[in-house]
Amino acid sequence: MTIRAILQYPDPCLRECAEPVGAFTDAIGELCRDLVQTLRYGTDGRAVGLAATQVGVPLRIFVMEATTKGGKRQSYVCINPRLQSESGEAVNAEGCLSFPDVTVRVRRATRIRLAYEQPSGRHTTRMFEGVLAICAQHELDHLDGKLMVDHGDPDVELSA
Ligand code: ZN
Repeated sequence: MTIRAILQYPDPCLRECAEPVGAFTDAIGELCRDLVQTLRYGTDGRAVGLAATQVGVPLRIFVMEATTKGGKRQSYVCINPRLQSESGEAVNAEGCLSFPDVTVRVRRATRIRLAYEQPSGRHTTRMFEGVLAICAQHELDHLDGKLMVDHGDPDVELSA
């Protein structure tokens, strides 16, 4: 288990389009664990999601973590995620671990259905709402090399 370095904008790796995961190897399992650990312990604790492209690995994997109503931390590891449906619309101020101290107002669906594989290779379909729905759409963008600043003007000047 390793906390990986999170790439900062304008690192060119952030613009790469990630490749699908083929075999669910031990190395993929380790990468998924590292992503969860990096999100949990390698950040200020306010981040909700992290994509593999943000640690320089161009594979279609992202992780999300949120606190449940019962106060427990719940992690989601989404491999080869596909957006199946979306509904609702809202504009929210988003942040990104690759853009410290930057927020951008982005219009997103408020409820989505996501199909993905777990590290075991098991197929899963799940509805996400609210923060997790917004986060999943943000992370899906990362896997296509798309960044939140592509959606609008950031509230501060970027140096690149
Ligand atoms: Zn991001």
